[in-house]
Order: sequence, then structure tokens, then C-alpha cells
Amino acid sequence: MQNETSILLVYTGGTIGMKQDPVSFDLRPFDFSQILEEVPELKKFGYRIDTYSFDPVIDSSDVDIEFWKRLTRLIEENYCKYDGFVILHGTDTMSFSASALSFMLGDITKPVVFTGSQLPIGMLRTDGKENLISSIEIAASKDSAGRPMVPEVCIYFESQLYRGNRTTKYTAENFRAFRSANYPVLAEVGIHIKFNTAFIRYPADWNHPLHPTYDLDPSVLIIKVIPGMKREVLDSLVCTPGIRAIILETYGSGNAPSGKWFTDCIKKAVDRGVIVLNITQCLAGRVDMDTYSTGKSLKNIGVVGGGDCTTEAAVAKLFFLLGQYTDNKEIVHFLKKNMRGELTEM
Ligand code: ASP
Repeated sequence: MQNETSILLVYTGGTIGMKQDPVSFDLRPFDFSQILEEVPELKKFGYRIDTYSFDPVIDSSDVDIEFWKRLTRLIEENYCKYDGFVILHGTDTMSFSASALSFMLGDITKPVVFTGSQLPIGMLRTDGKENLISSIEIAASKDSAGRPMVPEVCIYFESQLYRGNRTTKYTAENFRAFRSANYPVLAEVGIHIKFNTAFIRYPADWNHPLHPTYDLDPSVLIIKVIPGMKREVLDSLVCTPGIRAIILETYGSGNAPSGKWFTDCIKKAVDRGVIVLNITQCLAGRVDMDTYSTGKSLKNIGVVGGGDCTTEAAVAKLFFLLGQYTDNKEIVHFLKKNMRGELTEM
């Protein structure tokens, strides 16, 4: 059939493809072909849905940069053959993977939709079926000109489509596992799928070929500021050998202890050429280092403001930028820029 809609469904692991062992009741991954047997409804779409399963499948706690490279290569090799891609992935690190792929894949013209579930697809009350079916429909959706509705790396979960690099896993209990607190949903699924086109990123050139990037440098450390933090602990953290960047998770709009010992410690890292990026611990809102004096003192010593970037997106962006550039000035320049929709520039 000509112009047949085609989707590549990739199973990497996670709860969605788990089955309960009848004896031990442990959750174990099962053969991917059984996922399609569990969801015969997929045939009703009339799309060509090809499947690819990672072997072995992994719990997403085991995701690393080699996994991201493998996933990126799989999409690159199949980019021209399919209209869209649906990636089944564990929820625990899905926001990290979606953020990483948004940087590694670069400007894309086709949808890459991550999804998973809180309950295995074989269970009666599973959220996996709806998540899978709607993700496939979204990945296949086109506008009246025949162009993909959402040419972005996204996460679909519990009726909502999010920009992947804006998400955070929010709950390990509720079906609505993700939040995108600083960016509107890209689509809402009810009786109809309502695409929020004003907030979807469209490519400047629809014929833009895929140019993925495989060079990542994970020399990044996250330091979460806590009340009562000890000077010696912070001192030894900022002196960790081999790091090129620190994500400093601060309070509220980018605030940290005002004591001189604290800024001195952080300055020590900055003076050693370590990039320090200020990201808020809050789920919503942004870092603004001009509001309070504690934020100002961080700015004065060369700490970079991370705006409304999530920690997951900051990690992915830093891995990506450190892999591309050796000059800190260039890295800092791009940290302040919105590259893949991950940041609201002010
Ligand atoms: N531990 C699982 C994972 O992230 C949880 C899930 O799939 O939701 O792989």
C-alpha cells in the first residue's frame, strides 16, 4: 500500500513489558512479541507497526550513555523508513532519556514518543494499554499538509503529551507519573486528541536531514544544597577529581546559604575551571540570581543561572555540551540559550 503510515515501536524495558511470576510474584520482563498479543487493538489502526526489542531489556535504572547512543543509532538507521517512533521505556529515568535524545538527535522532523506504564500491560487495571495506543496514534498524526503534528522528542503519559526535556517523574504511585511544570502540555487526549500547536516546536526546514551527535561527556556532579550542610563535605565535593561541571540544586529562585564559607567553596570550583550551573530544587519556577543577595553572590563568583531548566534537562544538556566543546565560554554561552525547547529565555 502506498503512503501507508509506518511506526517503529521500540521496547527497551520497564514495567510496561513486565509479567508477574505466578510463584514468586516478582515482576519479570517477558518476550516483546507478547506485548502486541496483549494489545490486539493496535491492528485496527491499519498502520504498519514494526517492532524492535532491546536484548536484554533493561530496567531504566540501568540506563547509561551507551544506551542513549544505541537508541539514537537505531532511530538514525531507521529515520527515513518510518513516520514516527514510539519508545517503551521504564518511567524511572524516562525524563533523562527523553532529554538526552532531544539533544543527541538535534532538529527532528518526525515524532519520537516515549511512553511506559505504572502497571504492567498484562494487569487488569493497567495504564500501559492506553499509553501505548495513544502514543502510536500521536506518533502517526499528521496535519492537513501531511506533516507530523508533533516533530519533537516527547513523553506521553495518562492522557497528556509533554515535551520530553521539560518533564520530571513526579510520582511512583499515581498513573499521572510525570509533570511538566514550566511548559504547557503539547497535546491532551480525551474524546479527541487536542494538539496545543502554539507550543509545539516545528522545524525551520521540513527536509532537514537527521544529524545526530554521539559525543557526550558525563563529567558532571550534582550537589543539592541542604540546611546544615557541612563545609568539609561541600569542600570535598567541589574538589571531586574528573568533573568539568557541577549542577548546584539550590532553594527557590536560586538561593543558597549566604555564609562566606559557602561562596568560597563554590568559587574554588569556578576558579579551577569547573562550570557551576544553578538549578532550582523546586518543581516549578525559575532561577533568578538578581532577586536575593544570596543568589547575587553566586552570580558574582561566576555561577551560571539555569533558568527554568529541569535537573534532567540540565544533565543532558551538560553531557551534550561538554562532549562538543572544550572552551568553557562556548559551553556557558549555550547553557544560557534555548537549544531544544528546554529553557524559557528571559
Ligand atoms: N523500575 C522501572 C523502570 O524504570 C519502573 C517503571 O518502568 O515504571 O524501568
